[in-house]
Amino acid sequence: MKLVFIGPPGVGKGTYANAVREKYGIPHISTGDIFREEVKKGSELGLKVKEYLDKGLLVPDDLVIEVVKKRLQEEDCRKGFILDGFPRTVVQAVALEKFAPPDLVINFVAKPEVIIERVSGRRVCSVCGAIYHVKYMPPKVPGVCDKCGGPLIQRRDDKPEVVRERLKIFEEQFTPIIRFYSEKGRLVTIEANEQADVVIPRILEILKKYF
Ligand SMILES: [Zn+2]
Repeated sequence: MKLVFIGPPGVGKGTYANAVREKYGIPHISTGDIFREEVKKGSELGLKVKEYLDKGLLVPDDLVIEVVKKRLQEEDCRKGFILDGFPRTVVQAVALEKFAPPDLVINFVAKPEVIIERVSGRRVCSVCGAIYHVKYMPPKVPGVCDKCGGPLIQRRDDKPEVVRERLKIFEEQFTPIIRFYSEKGRLVTIEANEQADVVIPRILEILKKYF
């Protein structure tokens, strides 16, 4: 069960990947996480990746491909995997076809206003990092963390104007990749306008049909 999850920031991919991981016992592989792991291990790849990250530059395709390829060869990927954040370019998608062609690519879509509401309502405790949502998971006292009493803040990335900009960038970047998999007949689009408890059964239903 080789899966790729595609979706804009705030669509809930992490939550959905977690649900699929629990149900099928396949790892959720996010390129951000592998980069951090490799950097922490101080591996040769990690050092190369770190050079780019430190400069705030995008990690070049060949390096990203190498890192992902190595990760997919690990034992826990034998039954499959959920890739999240890769491929990010058509060059990466073409490379993935050679070493681990995905069986199914799930394209999560949600209305921009839904994503903006979801993301811009997020509040984070500035002391312990606990996450809240003004509407869906409000703290008992507005602006105050239930767990430690610390003040809640809105992250810069969660501000509506920043979310809107990131959605635009996502669309420009991923339209060619979505087309790539659609032409191969391996793309499924799932609507994610509702809360996770509605979207997750939808995903599991589709996976049941394919696997
Ligand atoms: Zn807290």
